[in-house]
Amino acid sequence: MGSNGKLEVPHHPIIPFIEGDGIGPDIWRASVRVFDAAIEKAYFGERKIHWLKVLAGEESFRQTGEWMPEATMQAFKDYLIAIKGPLTTPVGGGIRSLNVALRQELDLYVCLRPVKYFEGTPSPMWQPEKVNMVIFRENTEDIYAGIEYMTGTPEAEKLKHFLVEEMGVKKLRFPDTTSFGIKPVSKEGSERLIRSAIQYALDNKLPSVTIVHKGNIMKFTEGAFKNWGYDLAENEFAGEVYTWRQWEKTKEESGEAVANEEMRISAMGGKVIIKDAIADNFLQQALLNPQDYSVIATLNLNGDYISDALAAQVGGIGIAPGANINYLTGHAVFEATHGTAPRFANTNTMNPSSVILSGVMMLEYMGWRDAAELITNAVGKTIRNKTVTIDFYNLMKEGTLLKTSEFGDEVVRNM
Ligand code: NAD
Repeated sequence: MGSNGKLEVPHHPIIPFIEGDGIGPDIWRASVRVFDAAIEKAYFGERKIHWLKVLAGEESFRQTGEWMPEATMQAFKDYLIAIKGPLTTPVGGGIRSLNVALRQELDLYVCLRPVKYFEGTPSPMWQPEKVNMVIFRENTEDIYAGIEYMTGTPEAEKLKHFLVEEMGVKKLRFPDTTSFGIKPVSKEGSERLIRSAIQYALDNKLPSVTIVHKGNIMKFTEGAFKNWGYDLAENEFAGEVYTWRQWEKTKEESGEAVANEEMRISAMGGKVIIKDAIADNFLQQALLNPQDYSVIATLNLNGDYISDALAAQVGGIGIAPGANINYLTGHAVFEATHGTAPRFANTNTMNPSSVILSGVMMLEYMGWRDAAELITNAVGKTIRNKTVTIDFYNLMKEGTLLKTSEFGDEVVRNM
């Protein structure tokens, strides 16, 4: 990470990878061939990734007795960028989730999930080509922070006592059997997420950022998230963005026609439009008018639901990539959004596109855009040719069924 806050990537970086559990090794093997081939083709050997295998998950537990060895965490810290396959969530005791541990330890506050349609992909949408969004999901706060207490425990009793006796809360419907979860949402946490989303829209010349929230009901958490977002947009990105709040103000002062004209001129002048949508309405709009949405900034729980719902519109989790990023330190872990699908482990049948496209995100993050583009185009061609793995094959009326490894080979051939 350079002193100017920009990533400086050497031509021969060392990048740690975790193969992952279940279907992880199958799809990793297919994916890494694609990465190496694209980099070779784009840079003629001048650039090359030196892959460093690190352990986590079941393989690690078998070999070392630890699910997430300190050496792995240290490698992720030292090398900044890493890529991983899915990991089993250990059942019972110890570590809650290896992914959550990584996100917390490295403070990876952005969960980035692009949702892009590849022509020919089976989709439940009428016009799936209109879906082209990038989700910025806050990754460290919200009801997901893990601050929760089971009813009947001394902690829950203590909290209940505080709420009822000291805070005068009268809204506990069944106080004797209530469990509690706390939803922390901070100004700093909201700001760094929304700042990253706006910067991403500017860097990639995208038309809008939509803040998705349930602020109509949860006013001081989700509502504050929205307001802090508008404040930040208007203060830090003045001149580069135009917000719905500014539009409302102009409308009040000068009338609707003037406000509309301002919006039109701003959009035409390349300003990013900052707007907001209430989460339930957004999920409807994402189906009915997907073309109206580009970058989405949202809190942790909303982001979880939205990611899978939108992924389904463009082919499902077999093709859904993701990244967890801290734009300030540069730390980033790229990973497929799906799990280990243990029933299909070592069958060489699953779709490696999720990891292949996570690698594309990684190459873009590193600034190796030529290699990223080669892969994106080749994946597109492979799907258009209807040479696909079982998940797509089952939904297509025709096509050629490929194994995981064969799909990787086909992508390389199509570069
Ligand atoms: P899953 O995502 O592993 O699988 C659900 C179904 O999705 C599979 O049965 C399969 O039909 C389909 N699928 C998944 N990946 C696919 C691919 N690449 N190509 C085609 N189809 C694919 O979800 P699950 O069964 O609920 O979870 C299994 C394990 O994975 C659990 O231990 C869970 O905690 C863990 N998990 C890990 C991560 C992660 O490491 N990031 C994420 C989610 C779940």
